[in-house]
Amino acid sequence: MRPFNHINAASIAEAGEALKKGGAVAVAGGGDLLGALKDNIFPEYPRTVVNLKSIPGLNYIKFEDGALKLGALTTLADIARSPIVGEHAPALAAAAKSASSPALRETTTIGGNLCQLPRCWYFRKLNNRFDCARKGGERCFALTGDNRYHSVFGGAGFEAPGGQRACVAVNQGELAPVLIAMAARLKTTTREIEAFNFFDVGVLSSTVLEAGELLTEIEIPPLGFAETCRYRRFAFRKSIDFPIINLSIARGGENPNSPGKPRWHICIGGVAPTPHIAKAAEELLNVNAPSAADLTPELAQAAGVAATEGARAFESNAYKLQLIKTLIKRELLAMSAPPAD
Ligand SMILES: Cc1cc2nc3c(=O)[nH]c(=O)nc-3n(C[C@H](O)[C@H](O)[C@H](O)COP(=O)(O)OP(=O)(O)OC[C@H]3O[C@@H](n4cnc5c(N)ncnc54)[C@H](O)[C@@H]3O)c2cc1C
Ligand code: SF4
Repeated sequence: MRPFNHINAASIAEAGEALKKGGAVAVAGGGDLLGALKDNIFPEYPRTVVNLKSIPGLNYIKFEDGALKLGALTTLADIARSPIVGEHAPALAAAAKSASSPALRETTTIGGNLCQLPRCWYFRKLNNRFDCARKGGERCFALTGDNRYHSVFGGAGFEAPGGQRACVAVNQGELAPVLIAMAARLKTTTREIEAFNFFDVGVLSSTVLEAGELLTEIEIPPLGFAETCRYRRFAFRKSIDFPIINLSIARGGENPNSPGKPRWHICIGGVAPTPHIAKAAEELLNVNAPSAADLTPELAQAAGVAATEGARAFESNAYKLQLIKTLIKRELLAMSAPPAD
């Protein structure tokens, strides 16, 4: 690691000001950022690291007016073992418990989990060996290189110095799909954003956050999605391994096809540059399964197939399409099963 200035921010305002000056990055638990600093992956080494954990009042879990609210600095371990989260959003607790390792979960935060940078091996290669499009360079090395873990739904176009670029790295964050499926709202220092609209692809960025803008709170509104939500991940190893695919399915709000019944939400991570909403599968279920009891094995299978609609896999990652189909089918069948006595 190279030398840098370290600021323990005392307030959100102080952190925001320090980050706007340029050459500065925010750190919460450091589970993502410290590895990036140690491996020297940035085109320009940050001059200043702004510690957010010294800001009081951003680490909490509360249930207020029917909504579950979490401060951005709440650790994954606190979320995983919180009785409040366990009661009102068990899938969120399950997702938090699946991430990384017990020791890392004690320090890493929900805010950092949502803002983490891509794991693409070209992007992460030591000493900025590949100055790829996502770092402001001209090329995406994964397009013609080893893309077995990359997007099966095409690349994300974005503006970079010198013109338009595309990136096929996936968003592999543990908590993004479950929060999107639960229709969470994210509060920043300047605005409130639906969880789905929070993610974006840019140079050294995975979110829509502007320079100096910080995530402060995650709110899960009382629409019914949180209670019904389920979380499932597939990884090669059982522990300390990023999900190859993770997904969440929930029912809540109002079904446009069956008034009085809840609608389906399905969000999949690890398959596209931002968390992917399986729209065709949602629509199929909204029409054919107003109640979970309407789910049949045939319908669950058809929903899995519909979830791959629009996919454009590379030769080396087409296996992900089968994973999507299987995981969705299994999860829907589990939802249709009557609860055990
Ligand atoms: C061995 C290992 C295994 C891992 N396994 C997993 C896994 O299975 N699943 C998974 O999802 N992740 C995994 N991670 C990645 C990482 O640990 C987690 O994503 C973690 O939740 C990141 O949180 P953090 O607080 O440590 O973020 P940090 O590293 O502190 O920050 C991450 C990014 O978010 C930004 N940031 C942090 N907080 C805010 C905020 N409030 N507002 C704006 N920007 C912010 C930082 O500037 C930085 O760019 C793993 C990491 C390691 C080292
Ligand atoms: S997929 Fe994205 S992060 Fe990976 S090499 Fe291409 S542009 Fe860079």
